[in-house]
Amino acid sequence: MPSDTVIPIEIDLITALEDRGLRKTATRSTIVARIETANDAFTAEQLCRDLPGVGRATVYRTIRHLVDAGALCKLPILDGAPMYSIARVEHHHHTICSKCGTIGEFRDSTVERVMRSLGKEIDGDIVGHRMEIFITCNRCLGISKSGASIA
Ligand SMILES: [Zn+2]
Ligand SMILES: [Zn+2]
Ligand SMILES: [Zn+2]
Repeated sequence: MPSDTVIPIEIDLITALEDRGLRKTATRSTIVARIETANDAFTAEQLCRDLPGVGRATVYRTIRHLVDAGALCKLPILDGAPMYSIARVEHHHHTICSKCGTIGEFRDSTVERVMRSLGKEIDGDIVGHRMEIFITCNRCLGISKSGASIA
């Protein structure tokens, strides 16, 4: 059987499901395989459309478990359904293009320091944080500025 770089990701997602008590089934393997070959973020509806043989409830439930397990990032979209992308690194934040929906990931030690120092001012224990920065990506900027010459 040929092996390539796709396989470890599938193991991770399946393992994430198994860790949550969900057995590996053909259906779940199909969903995971589709997720891992998606290069971009996707919505639950897109995943349902790509997997006509799989029940919607199963798709939604599997996504929810993967999000809870930290294997998928759930990304709010300014107007529209949330999008999901595979969490490729442990702790990170996102940029989301408000025009085309392209998702970027970033890590920034300054942000983490600010978050830690905020913890002293906030009552209770901070157990996590999320940050999404909405942008107009360079590609969209290029399209919208195509009339003007950028020298
Ligand atoms: Zn992410
Ligand atoms: Zn864009
Ligand atoms: Zn952070």
